[in-house]
Formats: sequence, C-alpha cells, structure tokens
Amino acid sequence: MISKTDDFQELFDASGKPLGALLGPDAWALVRETVLAHFAPQTAPAVEEPIQDWRDLVQFWDFNYPVDHDVTCELCGNSTNAWELDEPRKFMLTAANLGGLVAFRCQSCQAKILKRHFKDCVKTEAKPFMPEKSIRNLGRGK
Ligand SMILES: [Zn+2]
Repeated sequence: MISKTDDFQELFDASGKPLGALLGPDAWALVRETVLAHFAPQTAPAVEEPIQDWRDLVQFWDFNYPVDHDVTCELCGNSTNAWELDEPRKFMLTAANLGGLVAFRCQSCQAKILKRHFKDCVKTEAKPFMPEKSIRNLGRGK
C-alpha cells in the first residue's frame, strides 16, 4: 500500500481533467512491471518475419544442394551473400514454406524477390513493388 502522499502525485489540468501521475521510487516499483508489460515498445522488429517457417524449411531441407543464403534483386542491383546477417538488412523475409518457396522484400526498391527451390536448382524471380497485392497471398498454402 502507498500510505505516504509524497510517494505519488496525481496531475490534473486546469479543467480538472486527469493528466496522469508522478510516482516516487517506491510507488513506481509497485507498478513498474505492469506498466512496462502494457506500454513498453515491443522488441520485435516492425515487420514480423516468418523466421520459423524459414527454419523449418532449413531443417527439412531435401534439395540436392546446400541451403542458399544469397539474395539478389535484379531490378535495382541490391544483393547479399547472407540475407540474415546484413546490418542493416538488405532483404526482409516475407514468406517461406516447406515446398521450397521463399520470398523476400528488397529493402532498397521494395521489389518482391521469389526464390523457388527445385530438386536440382533455384529459380529466382523479381517483381516490382505492387502495393495492392498482399504478400500473405503468396504461398501455396499448407
Ligand atoms: Zn531491389
């Protein structure tokens, strides 16, 4: 319980509308976890990448070549040897499935990069950015 009134101070504007409160160290300690859980910015990146889908694909990799980490955007020339390691990232993963379809968003020109993995080869396709199409409609479903 907060008993000392100097541990907290409720704030009101001129019309009596509540503005919030100032909390002393003891009062803040009581509610800190709750406040942070509700209002602290998420640590996850703004764009949620389906990394687990990619991990699943890597785990069950049954193509006749090693896992490929390179991505190239033939529309703007952006390219990387290891998309997961770039800082800042040049390509964001937007889709991956066990069938071997992996999609990226080029961070330079927003193009959609599709990598289709076949038994013996990878076919890469770059499509210019089209805002009206949802990236979520990409896959062939589960
Ligand atoms: Zn590009």
